[in-house]
Amino acid sequence: MPELPEVETIRRDLAALLGGRIFAEVEIYYSGSIKIPTATRLQQELPGRKITTINRRGKYLLIHLHDDTVLVIHLRMTGQLLFCEHNYSPDKHTHMVFHFRDGTALVFHDVRKFGTIYWLPAHALGQIKGLSTLGPEPFSPEFNADYLFAQAKRRKTSIKALLLKQEVIAGLGNIYADEALYRAGIRPDRPASTLNLEECKKLYQSICEVLNEAIYWRGTTMSDYRDAAGGRGAFQNHLQVYKQNDKPCLRCGQKIHRTVVAGRGTYFCPSCQK
Ligand SMILES: [Zn+2]
Repeated sequence: MPELPEVETIRRDLAALLGGRIFAEVEIYYSGSIKIPTATRLQQELPGRKITTINRRGKYLLIHLHDDTVLVIHLRMTGQLLFCEHNYSPDKHTHMVFHFRDGTALVFHDVRKFGTIYWLPAHALGQIKGLSTLGPEPFSPEFNADYLFAQAKRRKTSIKALLLKQEVIAGLGNIYADEALYRAGIRPDRPASTLNLEECKKLYQSICEVLNEAIYWRGTTMSDYRDAAGGRGAFQNHLQVYKQNDKPCLRCGQKIHRTVVAGRGTYFCPSCQK
């Protein structure tokens, strides 16, 4: 699933590509992804509207239009947004093609069909529950070691489960939670409430570090993730623990283990992570 670094990479690509473009025809092959409004209304009313800026909140992409409405896209498991200069031939996983007046297009492609699309006035974004309940962005001043410590102290869950909660911190998923915990030397199954402030400082720094590096490498492509030009990320070549089971730990040489924490496949070093 695309996490913060992948969605941020797409956001940066789209910001450079889409600003100023005006929507024309909207082709819809699968309308199940459109949650707000109806597919028909989207097709009738989106044409003629102009894109101003592209933002990101957690794993949501927010395409702002000149009339103070926002096209919100969540890629979930396998969603892709591909920018096309010329004619695009849809395949069976192409669900929507947003054409622009200048002949370019933005294609929404989604094998598993979990991706979601909303179009609504900026003041009504609260209607999207997953968006309105998001916790702080990892790079915002609200997210820091003290905040993480306060959240961890009052939770009964494992620290990994806490990091995956979008209401606590926006944008982390399975890959970067495992990578950050490895760098911080903390076992993913540790009860969150047992972390001390010093460990929360390390974890906070590791989260910011790993996200920054992954953005630099344009995200991690294990299977479906593609940037807006259809290209792969490269951070899969820099993973230290995620899906590295049975390989030697880069720090101590012991084998990396795989287990299940918070219902998710989880990778850690039993010797370096306490
Ligand atoms: Zn180790």
